[in-house]
Amino acid sequence: MSEEIIEKKELRVKPNLEDYEKTYREFKWEDVHKEISWFENGKLNAAYNAVDRHAESWRDNKVALYWESKEGESRKFTFLDLKNLSNKFANVLKKYGTKKRDRIFIFLPRVPELYVSFLGILKTGAIAGTLFSAFGPKALEDRLKDSEARILITNSELKERVYEIKKDLPDLEYIILVDEEEVDDGEISYIKEMKDAPREFDIEKTDPEDYAFMLYTSGTTGKPKGVIHAHYAIIQEHITAKWILDMHDEDIYWCTADPGWVTGISYEILGSWSNGVSSVIYEGRFNPEKWYSIIEKYQVSIWYTAPTAIRMLMAAGDDLPKKYDLSSLRHMCSVGEPLNPEPIRWSMRVFGIPFHDNWWQTEGGGILIANYPCMPIKPGSMGKPFPGIKAAIVDDNGNEIPVGKEGNLALKPGWPSMMREIWKNPEKYKSYFTGNWYISGDRARMDKDGYFWFIGRSDDVIKTAGERVGPFEVESALVEHPGIVEAGVIGKPDPIRGEIIKAFVVLAKGYEPSEEFKKEIKDFIKKRLAGHAYPKEIEFRKKLPKTRSGKIMRRILKAEELGLPIGDTSTLEEF
Ligand code: ATP
Ligand code: MG
Repeated sequence: MSEEIIEKKELRVKPNLEDYEKTYREFKWEDVHKEISWFENGKLNAAYNAVDRHAESWRDNKVALYWESKEGESRKFTFLDLKNLSNKFANVLKKYGTKKRDRIFIFLPRVPELYVSFLGILKTGAIAGTLFSAFGPKALEDRLKDSEARILITNSELKERVYEIKKDLPDLEYIILVDEEEVDDGEISYIKEMKDAPREFDIEKTDPEDYAFMLYTSGTTGKPKGVIHAHYAIIQEHITAKWILDMHDEDIYWCTADPGWVTGISYEILGSWSNGVSSVIYEGRFNPEKWYSIIEKYQVSIWYTAPTAIRMLMAAGDDLPKKYDLSSLRHMCSVGEPLNPEPIRWSMRVFGIPFHDNWWQTEGGGILIANYPCMPIKPGSMGKPFPGIKAAIVDDNGNEIPVGKEGNLALKPGWPSMMREIWKNPEKYKSYFTGNWYISGDRARMDKDGYFWFIGRSDDVIKTAGERVGPFEVESALVEHPGIVEAGVIGKPDPIRGEIIKAFVVLAKGYEPSEEFKKEIKDFIKKRLAGHAYPKEIEFRKKLPKTRSGKIMRRILKAEELGLPIGDTSTLEEF
């Protein structure tokens, strides 16, 4: 890939992490302990750290949450408001018999009650689970059954989907409805209960290793697994938010993720609020005009989003952002999928600042590899491991392999936000480890400067005519063509070459599918990549199948192509 480098000479704010290399050398996780509030005897609660400690400080009346509904209604909550509300909710949960380690799930759109109840659950010592509000009955059933959830928090509209499967959920005792005062048997009215619930709550003094939340991974490559995280993860969520997202007290921060996905928990609830930052949460879906207007209205200074959204904004054109005052933006980050170089170049052109890509996974609980404000960016690279994280490229036996060579992206186990178990599936948990390494399931390489470069998910890497080709490389080259908005690339079995490369592309406005255009695309790629890496087949698509967190599901493109069963699709956006 290119040796293009983006130096950042004039940062508007002095970054919290000023010297990556020195910090990496000297860092110890214990040093972060002082950034967190502890109870006596080494106990710690993540929700207390996110909200209460600020509510008990000078930040009590600082706005924690600027919330905007999908209809455009806005509401504000201070840290003190969130403390009081989550205390009340914890009391409601206690009233209905909640005990430590109970699984309590939230099935709501991004409404304030989602955030209040998440914090309230953690305060009782129960385990919080989140569910995308677009989930259908089957996706709900898989997760609620596997977790043996006791209580579900939802609303009057979404509850219908739960009732379709409720008879198969013997452990589900209560459904809490956040928008109803009149409820049926087995249901609890949030509105009524919250009115009477006391504002004082004796927070569970959890052990750092006690479980805080669980998440079923997005299922891009298989059936969702219940990944468990401990309260101790707050250590990493806090310090990564501080050093990578570079949170300062005066910032207004917008994370566009949904808490149904790990980013929406670690960096929209826990790590971000632990830094005492004011956050914007927008309930509605992606829309270019609306998104730019949110940045303008709230004067967002730090923005954390995903490559799909960035590519969609690019597709909406360079003129659109000019209609808004986006000058408040000073730091931008991206996660969830490989960030092609082209969107970084675009962001330099349009916003004058780059997107900082970072890499992690549900299982990792917090950012693991990142581009930092203080470090030059090599577009297309995920950056360098966070201090305290040892990352390496290893072969299938867990042996480190030389610089520059492709292999499995692996991490030394034991970082604070690493998953603690896969719920009821110890075999699956064990399968992540080889020798001394946690194997991520992604392929990557490390360059001589220690930057990591994503190649593809292990399952997605293509073997063609004896060569290995990462889909990301081909997709990045494809989206450099002005006529291509998005691309998904797969290996298609071929009797001679083993596999051939097939690309599914979404065209930009003003471009029409045609055989000539296919040829033009092929020629365009041949000029950029090694001869074997150009797509022999190209198919035009209106859109690509994606998870709700915006990841292109190459396994579905492949299954469709080959006429195979498409497997678990519960996290598919629209299907
Ligand atoms: P499942 O494990 O169920 O198949 P998933 O892997 O999509 O689902 P997540 O944990 O949400 O679930 O996603 C993590 C994966 O997303 C990473 O392993 C990687 O493949 C991809 N990813 C995340 N961030 C980046 C990034 N910055 N660059 C490249 N890939 C990324
Ligand atoms: Mg995964």
